[in-house]
Amino acid sequence: MAAPFSWIKPEPHGIYIEPADCWVDPSRAVDKALVTHGHADHARGGHGQTVATPETLAIMKLRYATSDGATPVEYGETIRLPGGVDATYIPAGHVLGSAQILLEHAGERVIVTGDYKRRADPTCPPFEVTACDIFITEATFGLPVFCHPPIEEEMQKLLDRLAAHPDRCVLIGAYALGKAQRVIAELRAAGHTDPIYLHGAMEKMCRLYEEHGVDLGELRMVAEHTKEDMRGAIVICPPSALNDRWSRRLPDPITAMASGWMRVRQRARQRNVELPLVISDHADWGELTRTIREVDAQENWITHGREDALLRWCQLHQRRARALALVGYEDEDD
Ligand SMILES: [Zn+2]
Ligand SMILES: [Zn+2]
Repeated sequence: MAAPFSWIKPEPHGIYIEPADCWVDPSRAVDKALVTHGHADHARGGHGQTVATPETLAIMKLRYATSDGATPVEYGETIRLPGGVDATYIPAGHVLGSAQILLEHAGERVIVTGDYKRRADPTCPPFEVTACDIFITEATFGLPVFCHPPIEEEMQKLLDRLAAHPDRCVLIGAYALGKAQRVIAELRAAGHTDPIYLHGAMEKMCRLYEEHGVDLGELRMVAEHTKEDMRGAIVICPPSALNDRWSRRLPDPITAMASGWMRVRQRARQRNVELPLVISDHADWGELTRTIREVDAQENWITHGREDALLRWCQLHQRRARALALVGYEDEDD
């Protein structure tokens, strides 16, 4: 009989499932990949076969124009892989289509979370705590200093600033997949019904969210409107466009950015952000430790971020843990 869990192998380029000869979120092209969600550090183009939720496959098709060998799996659905491995996709609460992947083989259960958060998000179903033997968790914000405020507070800060400057606009830098749509949906939930203006690079992903049932209200393209139209309005662009020439067409923008990293003053200053909004699609320290407690796995494997502090926390709380050395993951998506 094989040693326990010898079928699942953390390699530098992803988690390898040996009996099925397939990878989870591989950072290079492989024959067969299970993909947790559409962010670029998890979803690469060029795999022979890609198994993911229909939403993630749609996102990948839009971004990489490769839809060969796409195998859709709905939330809660289990598919049988070669070698007697079952894979079940479970909501991760991170972005549209994001999933934790439960792998079962020879009576052993392993969960790969991909990225996740525990806060409510109007654009995707919430993270589901699921029992397993090994819990492979991300740790993007794995330091006690990271404590994301309630999103309602950040929305209020934003709306107050907008109301105080009716002749200007608030320009929010937000990652094009996930963050932008969540900010828009939260603005709608806060009662902001005015049109929201978009940089051209945001349009297709917002339309994709709408096609998957996420209501974003009235969206307008910046390129089709004048400075006058946009006074007193919210404009959303990719973080890279915040300080470039493009923003000259806007009426005296107040520069904002929606990111978990806005907790770090240095990061806000680097981007000349006047209004930092601490809004993250990743679990903060409290969410990470709570999740490890609730899942209560025999062992926790920590990856994708600041592994050391979370590893230390596990040791202090008598929980078995190890840090993985996966390469090719970036924090740019938050
Ligand atoms: Zn992500
Ligand atoms: Zn990630």
